[in-house]
Amino acid sequence: MTHGFTVASDRVWRLRPITPGWQCQRTGDCCTQVPALRMTVAERAAIDASGISPQRPAAWDLTSETGWAFLQAQPCPYFTRDENRQGVCTIYAVRPFVCRRFGCFRPVPDKEPLELDRSPLGCRNLSDRVGQSAEVLHAYRRMQRKAQEWAVLHGWKKFRRVDR
Ligand code: SF4
Ligand code: SF4
Repeated sequence: MTHGFTVASDRVWRLRPITPGWQCQRTGDCCTQVPALRMTVAERAAIDASGISPQRPAAWDLTSETGWAFLQAQPCPYFTRDENRQGVCTIYAVRPFVCRRFGCFRPVPDKEPLELDRSPLGCRNLSDRVGQSAEVLHAYRRMQRKAQEWAVLHGWKKFRRVDR
């Protein structure tokens, strides 16, 4: 879940429509469908330091790879909904890199289900748009650069290239 990244033009791609000024629609689909969040131990420490309690018991797996923490999701224990049923990240200020770098870029989520898969960016909706639209690619790059500012301060050393 992210906010505020824009697509500059109003050109509409015939199969995957895009919109100018795309912003996260706060459906919560990503927060409730991703099985687990991988983050550095520094990112987990930032969450702990926030003092914010999860909405549901948080289950952590620290054993899989040294230096990484895995938070079981589906749904993320820090996800909730407001009175209008809009998705809310209760740890937005300290959310991990994997959340900061993701946006599905669906302009009308009701008409286009989220497709998490093995496509290059892990999401068919996003991968298709980045691959087909220069406007989305530029917006995606901006999102990555901003997310990486957080990441480099919290233990991430390698980033997937976004210049495809
Ligand atoms: S699935 Fe897309 S619209 Fe829904 S919360 Fe995630 S990024 Fe936002
Ligand atoms: S940390 Fe926040 S943005 Fe990330 S999955 Fe959980 S609720 Fe969503």
